[in-house]
Amino acid sequence: MEGMAVGIIGAGLAGLRMAAELRERGESGAITVWDAEGRAPYDRPPLSKELFGQFIHPLSADGLGDIAELGVAVVPRAASAIRPAEGGWRVDGADSPVFVEHLVIATGAAPRATIPGARVLYTADDAAVLRELIVPGAKVHIVGAGWIGTEIASAAAGRGAAVEVWEATAHILERTFHGAVDSLWKEWFAAAGVALHLGEMYETTDRPDVLVQATGARPNLTLVTASPDIPACELSARGALVTDLHGRVYTTAGHPIAGLYAVGDCADVRLPDGSMMVGGHWTGVLGNTARAAAALTGTQRPRFLDPPEVFSTQFGHEIALVGVIPDIREPRRADTQAGFTLRWESGQQESGGTLQALLAVDSPRELSRARRELRRALGAN
Ligand SMILES: Cc1cc2nc3c(=O)[nH]c(=O)nc-3n(C[C@H](O)[C@H](O)[C@H](O)COP(=O)(O)OP(=O)(O)OC[C@H]3O[C@@H](n4cnc5c(N)ncnc54)[C@H](O)[C@@H]3O)c2cc1C
Repeated sequence: MEGMAVGIIGAGLAGLRMAAELRERGESGAITVWDAEGRAPYDRPPLSKELFGQFIHPLSADGLGDIAELGVAVVPRAASAIRPAEGGWRVDGADSPVFVEHLVIATGAAPRATIPGARVLYTADDAAVLRELIVPGAKVHIVGAGWIGTEIASAAAGRGAAVEVWEATAHILERTFHGAVDSLWKEWFAAAGVALHLGEMYETTDRPDVLVQATGARPNLTLVTASPDIPACELSARGALVTDLHGRVYTTAGHPIAGLYAVGDCADVRLPDGSMMVGGHWTGVLGNTARAAAALTGTQRPRFLDPPEVFSTQFGHEIALVGVIPDIREPRRADTQAGFTLRWESGQQESGGTLQALLAVDSPRELSRARRELRRALGAN
């Protein structure tokens, strides 16, 4: 087979998009994908949003790539270790070692699971278990009022469960909004009959039928930790591999590691101005993988850097945040056709400054306008 040999570890959104981008960009060489979950790549957001509906959405159904049609070899198990080898990388974990020229780590994240007896929601199997357990009338305790905790609360309340949420910080979705949306979500919680314990660690003598821990996920670097022969890699504040815009992984001494790339939730991207684009969200993966594939194939990279974006569906609302909320500054609220927006701007002008972030609730038009306003031109390769 002509072309280069590429290994991709992980078959989530990032692993799949990486393989698809390589093929779309004309790469005809051998691509091997290691898949620890052993099921056709599926989308994670529906696991919480459609917990009681059709929660398994194959990514192929959304035109994001069909692993069976990309002409890749899939190893249906976890890669156990990687190490530099002559002209590339060696990957262990199949029946015999596989050698590739370029290796892409796309191992995603793993949910924090520290509360004894608590369930988590990260995989399709987790969703299947929760769906069985959360029945009408069930007493459901959720620890964590982040995106996934609030989505599970919404879905479980909609199912007729008796839901209580504990959040250790003083705010709902504190890491994203720093307290700016508490009154909004409190209203939605109250209307859905969800009890909220804000600023409280989980502690109760009341035994729930289902206990769910939704206190965030960490980049999954088990493979890197299990690979002592690779150079020490630079990690970001949240413990992700630091890459440049091309997806290249760096040593702690600041040198790119030849032939080693990382994309998706296991990576954070250092931008040319030194700031960090933090991973962990769906839309970021698309840009990540397109840029890494462009670097690998020497093809044109995307012209724009899209702003960070988080989307959610809960309590009957379509919610999206684009951009990064700068600080505790109060947002400006504006009503839209079917919902409203909150805008965070820099500058103090009465008439409004430069947009930094926009929360759109049931406001798709305003969302796409903000997306365009916040994207940055990347220039030539
Ligand atoms: C319930 C839920 C809801 C979400 N909702 C939203 C949302 O509304 N909006 C949003 O922006 N984002 C959301 N996300 C986050 C979004 O799904 C992720 O950003 C996206 O899945 C990242 O893709 P990934 O491929 O990097 O990682 P993952 O999806 O984690 O995939 C990584 C894959 O690699 C596999 N793997 C790990 N180690 C190995 C190994 N050694 N060998 C082989 N395979 C390995 C894993 O098993 C996994 O299948 C949600 C996540 C969850 C769990």
